[in-house]
Amino acid sequence: MPGSVAAGLTFTTPLIFERGAKGRTGVSLAKSEVPDVDPAALYGDLFRKEQPALAEVSEPEAVRHYVQLSQQNFAIDTGMYPLGSCTMKYNPKVNEWAARLPGFATLHPLTPDSMAQGALELMYRLEQGLAQVCGMDRVSLQPAAGAQGEYVGLQMIRAYHSAQGRSPKKVLIPETAHGTNPASCALNGFTAVPFPVDEHGIVLPDQLAPFVDDDVAAIMVTNPNTVGLFETHMATMAEMVHAKGGLVYGDGANLNAIMGRGRPGDFGIDVMQFNLHKTFTTPHGGGGPGCGPVGYKKILDPYAPVPVAERNDDGTYRLDYGSRPQSIGRVRSFHTNFGMAVRAYAYMREMGPEGLRMATDLAVLNANYLRVCLGETWKVAFDRTCMHEVVISDKHLKDTHVTTMDVAKRLMDYGYHPPTVYFPLVVKGAMLIEPTETETKQELDRFVDAMKSISDEAQREPETVTGAPHLTRLRRLDETRAARNPVLRYVAPKSA
Ligand SMILES: *Cc1c(COP(=O)(O)O)cnc(C)c1O
Repeated sequence: MPGSVAAGLTFTTPLIFERGAKGRTGVSLAKSEVPDVDPAALYGDLFRKEQPALAEVSEPEAVRHYVQLSQQNFAIDTGMYPLGSCTMKYNPKVNEWAARLPGFATLHPLTPDSMAQGALELMYRLEQGLAQVCGMDRVSLQPAAGAQGEYVGLQMIRAYHSAQGRSPKKVLIPETAHGTNPASCALNGFTAVPFPVDEHGIVLPDQLAPFVDDDVAAIMVTNPNTVGLFETHMATMAEMVHAKGGLVYGDGANLNAIMGRGRPGDFGIDVMQFNLHKTFTTPHGGGGPGCGPVGYKKILDPYAPVPVAERNDDGTYRLDYGSRPQSIGRVRSFHTNFGMAVRAYAYMREMGPEGLRMATDLAVLNANYLRVCLGETWKVAFDRTCMHEVVISDKHLKDTHVTTMDVAKRLMDYGYHPPTVYFPLVVKGAMLIEPTETETKQELDRFVDAMKSISDEAQREPETVTGAPHLTRLRRLDETRAARNPVLRYVAPKSA
């Protein structure tokens, strides 16, 4: 039977277009009492001559199709998802309730300001809240992902330099940085210049100094960094770059480790992105959706994207397009990924300042708990207090030929999503583990037990690990072939 679990090693779930039958529909409506009119007479050329090629299925067929697909997926709602750098925390259901309120969910993006006051007020308040959390003057809600936030922040930096008749070319990036950082530089026409970190994974001012000159547009720093450690020399680094006329970009993807405890704006960062889908509990994974607002200091305000939700003197709200003639312009269609904004605002209000601080504290505590417990079996890459994530490696399994990739696959048999693997690049065979604050101690203990048994298996019966996963619907896929030879187009099966 198509789509059944017995289907074995091939992916046989049919597409929805392969289900159903010609002419079948999911709705049955009573015959209208309004007399038919000729649509062509009404719409002229706009009237569609051919039916769109939609799936022709009954309602149960459509529901079963999507529920079956969802059951093949792994989600934070099904289990712990310790994917480092991604902050896969639980997304409270009250956020979903808020985002589905009809006044928000059904609002057309072109609704006149006077009829969209609640949505504009929410955008304004979210901006205020985010600015307060990160110590920035303003926040643009527009970017639709962390990476787009980086891109927009760097565009603002470029506009800032050109307004002063300068065009510095270099952006300094520590060698541990997330791959999106150099990519955002390249897209903006900057040259990404990597510089080394010390053996503990931290940037030292002495190692940075030789790279700082007049051609530096900015330094791009993630703090806490991508190995889960706090950059202790952040303020000094910022001073060094500022002294040469450069600006400081903060990759805010790891805000979950400092929110409510430290503000990037207070340690010298001029512009940063939030990843609302990480820190502020908006669902992500599977490629979207996202929301990557950009917080910035006053000096960058003239270049911020437009429009911006502003408060009028009489307490009403408007979308302001006109008061920033040097703006880099609009960076996405409409105003923000609005459903994400509602969820993030709901989370912020539900937590309050104390709650956000507590989330940070527990995220850091959980990661350190794992660091110590896993450290009894596994090699911890940087054995010092970490922030929200910890890096371990497969070093102690060297003689078994079991690798990080095998361990990641085997974890699926134990019911866990694998951690981030082979990143950060500076650690050989790295596993970057981020438990987040939403896992209980019992769950963390179960995870530690699973990792201990995998380590035992690797030594006693390595084939069990190298042959994993055993319990998933599909086993090992040919990832290289998938990347080199992707099949991206649907080809309809020949009908019998
Ligand atoms: C997730 C992440 C990004 C990119 O964010 P997206 O929303 O996935 O585009 C950038 N930097 C770091 C450190 C991240 O963890």
